[in-house]
Amino acid sequence: MTDPFLDRLADLLGPGGLVVGDELASRPASWTRAAEPCAAAALVRPRSTEEVSAVLAACHAAGRVVVPRGGATGLVDGILCAPGDIALSLERMTGIEALDPLAMTMVVRAGTTLEAVQAAAEAADLFFPLDLGARGSATVGGTISTNAGGLRVLRYGMMREMVLGLEAVLADGTVVSSMRPLIKNNTGLDLKQLFVGTEGTLGVVTRAVLRLRPAPAGYATAVVACADVDAAAAILSRAQRAFQGRVSSFEGMWPDFYRAMTAPGRFAPPLHREHPYYALIEVECVPEEEPRFLSLLETLMTEEIVRDAVISASEEQRRALWRIRDRVELLGEAGLARPFDVSVPFSAMAGYVAEASARIAAIHPDAGSVAYGHVGDNNIHWNTAQLPDPALEAQVEAAIYEPLAALQGSVSAEHGIGLEKRGKLGLSRSAAEIATMRAVKRALDPKGILNPGKIFSHPVD
Ligand SMILES: Cc1cc2nc3c(=O)[nH]c(=O)nc-3n(C[C@H](O)[C@H](O)[C@H](O)COP(=O)(O)OP(=O)(O)OC[C@H]3O[C@@H](n4cnc5c(N)ncnc54)[C@H](O)[C@@H]3O)c2cc1C
Repeated sequence: MTDPFLDRLADLLGPGGLVVGDELASRPASWTRAAEPCAAAALVRPRSTEEVSAVLAACHAAGRVVVPRGGATGLVDGILCAPGDIALSLERMTGIEALDPLAMTMVVRAGTTLEAVQAAAEAADLFFPLDLGARGSATVGGTISTNAGGLRVLRYGMMREMVLGLEAVLADGTVVSSMRPLIKNNTGLDLKQLFVGTEGTLGVVTRAVLRLRPAPAGYATAVVACADVDAAAAILSRAQRAFQGRVSSFEGMWPDFYRAMTAPGRFAPPLHREHPYYALIEVECVPEEEPRFLSLLETLMTEEIVRDAVISASEEQRRALWRIRDRVELLGEAGLARPFDVSVPFSAMAGYVAEASARIAAIHPDAGSVAYGHVGDNNIHWNTAQLPDPALEAQVEAAIYEPLAALQGSVSAEHGIGLEKRGKLGLSRSAAEIATMRAVKRALDPKGILNPGKIFSHPVD
């Protein structure tokens, strides 16, 4: 080893604590750069909060950059390292420390996967509502640091709403433990929120107290067709009123997306004819309430708000409906591999998607796009074709991001800013907001060693 600082880290962490060389090169730089190796000088694998603290204290003293890393499923290059950086993985800090079935809380270490948390909750006849396609690899620390959203935000909120307590280590090694399992705690600044959604720039999350929920008694699920996204908004509003806010998912699909997912060789279209707009709606309800769901859809059809609908009659049918919305990795086969994630108020969605689609189509004959997403949460995902020329790619980005500023939209609904979107932050945040974020960063990490360059270009200037 040529870097004596790495010898020091190896001594601090003991056997298996440091990954370098070929083993490190076999780790991907990030999800979106899976073919590139991690460029860090070393990856450290602490086993405890104390070891995380020791690593950070050493890196702080030496002025070495630390990049926290969870399951490496983030989509905005938040874990990308530069040569010389120290990647810090929580992969040896896994496991559930405690589960209180009466209080419905779980104490968990930050390297635990989302899937393991869901399974442990289920084994206790409880439910952890956060869910997303990357559940098998995404970690508690990563989902906290990106404030992940996913499929049930409408009913349960984002990760922020599921964290009761949290332990984090600051850039200089100070451990800040706010692990109280309390629903109410008005004692000044809610420090845990500093680490939720801040993408590893303010501290390394090491443990958390998560809030569990009663397991839903069942679901009523349908794919509905309607005239446009405005009609879809009316359907959502009526369903929320009819079921007292128990709509847990409302996923919108513009026709190009639906067509791509139901093309020959993919999934059978659940509806017989094509329509201008589709939505997947899921309500949490007991089986006795299912007739009420059917009658709501019938009423909406009589009022010509719903044009057609298919309701799942079994768990297998429910999964089949979900696959059309969920298996978006198949869009790669259709040449639409580049994902985008934005937010737009419901009232502006129809115009926004029409304008951005038209702008993208005009850029290049090979430019294509499909829109879909958690529209019940104002969240639109786009998948676009990968164009060979970076200048054309920049035009696609402009078509998607630029209209958002005037619409009170957001350049990131749930994936975060990372490195990929840092140049776009000003489209969603005012100068005063960004200055305040920078002030917080400076206060907590004056040397700028924690994930610098993510969210902001110059974190401590
Ligand atoms: C197939 C697929 C589907 C997805 N679906 C969704 C979805 O529906 N909704 C959604 O919100 N996201 C989704 N994502 C994005 C991704 O899964 C989330 O961003 C997830 O929260 C990242 O978790 P991770 O453990 O992989 O974090 P990583 O990718 O390893 O890291 C993400 C960020 O968090 C920081 N970080 C990681 N661990 C820690 C820690 N312990 N302390 C401090 N900082 C840390 C990193 O530095 C980085 O900035 C999807 C991704 C994929 C690949």
